[in-house]
Amino acid sequence: MNPTEIIRKKRSGAELLREELEYFIGGYLSGSVQEYQMSAFLMAVYFRGMTFGETTTLTDIMLHSGEVVDLSKIPGIKVDKHSTGGVGDKVSLILAPMVAACGVPVPMISGRGLGHTGGTLDKLESIPGFRTSLSLKEYESIIAEVGTVMIGQTAEIAPADKRMYALRDVTGTVESIPLIAGSIMSKKLAEGIDALVLDVKTGRGAFMQSEKDSGEKFGKKTIAFITNMDEPLGYAVGNWLEVVESIECLKGKDVRDLMEVTEVLGGAMVMLGGKARTIEDGIRHCKDAVASGRAFDKFREMVRRQGGDVSSIENPGRYPKSACSYEIKASARGTIDEIDSLEVGLAGIMLGAGRMRIEEKIDPKAGILLKKKVGDPVDAGETLAVLYTDRKDSLEEARRRVERAIVIATKPSAGSPLIRALIDDKGVHPWHQ
Ligand code: URA
Repeated sequence: MNPTEIIRKKRSGAELLREELEYFIGGYLSGSVQEYQMSAFLMAVYFRGMTFGETTTLTDIMLHSGEVVDLSKIPGIKVDKHSTGGVGDKVSLILAPMVAACGVPVPMISGRGLGHTGGTLDKLESIPGFRTSLSLKEYESIIAEVGTVMIGQTAEIAPADKRMYALRDVTGTVESIPLIAGSIMSKKLAEGIDALVLDVKTGRGAFMQSEKDSGEKFGKKTIAFITNMDEPLGYAVGNWLEVVESIECLKGKDVRDLMEVTEVLGGAMVMLGGKARTIEDGIRHCKDAVASGRAFDKFREMVRRQGGDVSSIENPGRYPKSACSYEIKASARGTIDEIDSLEVGLAGIMLGAGRMRIEEKIDPKAGILLKKKVGDPVDAGETLAVLYTDRKDSLEEARRRVERAIVIATKPSAGSPLIRALIDDKGVHPWHQ
């Protein structure tokens, strides 16, 4: 076998055999397949897709590229959630401690920013000292002690995803159903969970079924929700800005769209974890965990245990500030009709909140703070968003993007529901809030 032959076979649309995928991914990890060859392979998959059989084999190979953690000694049904990726999607930061505070252990392996969407690891690492790269031993002891732990793929756990994920981020190969399914499921199946909740963002609905099916195929109880990603979740886009919004929500602030998604996913996790009879009952437990302060205490405990500076989350106002900020004002009176997530996400990358090259450093302070949500009334001259960056040169283009993203109408269009459907082993069900 040779790498070029496999790239050409996929480029022509043929189905790859297990031994070919093993050769290619194994070679990438050992160094005999180069970064440029993996980039070409990913682009071939992006254009040609994969069969369900190939996707399952890819997932299996990526899963077994590292250790599969056994958490059976830790009491309780371990449950996690994963999102297909969104803008302002800081749900995991609130959800993991909230569900853990309900008595359900949440071991979580996440990723960095991917394409125009943010990543949980970059957000967590904006907390000074927070370590997302832990040994297997540390991972196991923190989940046992705290009830939740949040790390990234490592050389030990899901190493194939660690490398392929970083490469996809900068090669325009993110939006591929088999690559997303393999990436998500290889991490989730490696982390030692018993059940999984998926948050599938709409617009890419087609891959949802294949991910849920592959979760079940690997013996994990899996529930998926289809949720709307037309506008960013919450108000903050950018790593530290999102941590601050998450802290506020953990302390009881009701940012409705963000908390609605978080509570529903949390309710399902608490039910799957055996601590509630129904999702609705689980939602009640989650709300209680926030209102009582237990969810924030759990977050603080996790931050401390993973090396983070607890005083920074207790006094977020002391965090360093960006060198430049810019307020975007409304040009007319009306109602906010649209806030295009893609444009806002791309503007965030320009400001320094995401990467354009693998080795690029994130600026944790950079990002966008929206002041309005879709449906809000607005007067001419009112502030719509504030941009934060140290990159003065990028401000102008980012400003144009965010101005383009926010549409004001005199007659607003009808909104669409935030949570569209629930998919379980009985099929697809509409979700009624
Ligand atoms: N989340 C992941 O972990 N991988 C993807 O490819 C997309 C979202």
